Amino acid sequence: MSEIEETPLPIVVIVGRPNVGKSTLFNRFIGEQAAIVEDRPGVTRDRKELEAEWLGRRFRLVDTGGWLPAGSELDAKVSRQVEAAVRSADLIIFLTDGSVGVTDEDEAVASWLRKVSPPVMLVVNKADNDRREADRWEFLSLGLGEPYPVSALHGRRAGDLLDEIISRVPDAPLSDEYVESYGLDEEIVPVGDQKPPRVALIGRPNVGKSTLFNRLVGEDRSVVHDMPGTTRDAIDTLVETEDGPVVFVDTAGMRRRSRIDDTAEYYSLVRALRAVDASDIALFVIDATQGVTAQDQRLAERVDAAGCPILILLNKWELIEDVEDRERIENEVKRKLYFMDDAPVLKISALTGKGVHKLRPVLQEAIEQYHRRVPTRDVNRVIADAQQRQPAAGGAKVMYAIQGATDPPTFTLFVNRELPHTYLRYLERSIREAFGFGSTPLKLRVRKRGD
Ligand code: GDP
Ligand code: GDP
Repeated sequence: MSEIEETPLPIVVIVGRPNVGKSTLFNRFIGEQAAIVEDRPGVTRDRKELEAEWLGRRFRLVDTGGWLPAGSELDAKVSRQVEAAVRSADLIIFLTDGSVGVTDEDEAVASWLRKVSPPVMLVVNKADNDRREADRWEFLSLGLGEPYPVSALHGRRAGDLLDEIISRVPDAPLSDEYVESYGLDEEIVPVGDQKPPRVALIGRPNVGKSTLFNRLVGEDRSVVHDMPGTTRDAIDTLVETEDGPVVFVDTAGMRRRSRIDDTAEYYSLVRALRAVDASDIALFVIDATQGVTAQDQRLAERVDAAGCPILILLNKWELIEDVEDRERIENEVKRKLYFMDDAPVLKISALTGKGVHKLRPVLQEAIEQYHRRVPTRDVNRVIADAQQRQPAAGGAKVMYAIQGATDPPTFTLFVNRELPHTYLRYLERSIREAFGFGSTPLKLRVRKRGD
């Protein structure tokens, strides 16, 4: 016996009065589904419970079958078994019969279901053709939302119904086989990565990087260690701050008296990009007295493209006394670095130390977001909401989503078919806003079966 504990599967319970087609639907699902993982002999002669899988999403399907007492008895005594099954459900499928219409019994079941807490999906069965499908609107009167049509007998809309079911149980786990068939190979990084955050100080020569570095190190009265850098001539510096260790990447030029020659633009650019690649966050330093120069812009573009969160530091701010000049420079940053419009901007003086204390909390926050992992069920809820608010064109749909990686937060979307780029941007925005990711770059990966 395996000792590995599995997350419990979401439970989908089918209820409805006798003869609406519960067993037929249950058997239809068995026929439709890609794989029956396991089925248990039920309480009665029929199969009553099984582990189902649709598009790789696993859930437990329970048919309350003959357990539901008929007619007027219902209010008085819903059987314990049904009651327990319904209360523990993650989704209830309330099945009705469109060929008969709304009956008193349906109303009795509906009024009971309106009082239970799990979400209820109203399904009208026997919608064998278009005309029958239109009959379902009568069931709006049950007060359980929009009726969903299906023909359990013929299988009409059964796949759509399963799509709908799995989108309503967002935390249904993916089967391993399915993940493999999609070619998902991301490593799942455990939460709470304890490696110290890595910070790159980036900027043209003479903007004040070394001064800032020494100020940050000095202010902390911190312990400073040399570390072998990521490249041959680089030196990283590990600084023990009050909030824990921070690594400043490629500080060779800032630590040595005799500075290495990084005045050539090309060389400093290459160096800067290497540092950014090795970092969790870049502090982009600008000499405010010079404004945003063309060289700043070029460097900023390349750093931004590296996909690392960025803080913009307007250094030597104490030299800009005039209010109009200050406004002009702030506007220049907005205009010339428009592509970084999510990045926080801090005005500091590395020389006097003014404003430098504001850096730490902003830095910490940005790094936290970069390492953050959100639970799968929340990701799926956000995606489902976004899709409900604004569905993609042509029936394209995200069936399931996970955050496959952090640094930066990377989301893998399992889709039934290609999603337009604008729609992906919309989903990215929805994720960013729902979880408050701020200016942290997010990555979306899209997987179609067979990719
Ligand atoms: P249960 O008592 O709710 O489990 O209902 P059953 O699954 O036993 O079905 C009751 C009757 O309805 C059977 O004769 C089924 O063949 C029939 N039935 C089930 N689904 C459909 C359907 O989609 N269309 C039609 N026309 N008949 C159906
Ligand atoms: P780096 O080449 O980017 O590392 O720049 P440095 O840190 O060597 O600074 C270049 C020059 O700018 C030095 O003369 C610093 O004293 C000066 N400097 C740095 N920060 C400030 C500041 O906030 N205000 C003023 N007025 N000068 C600064």
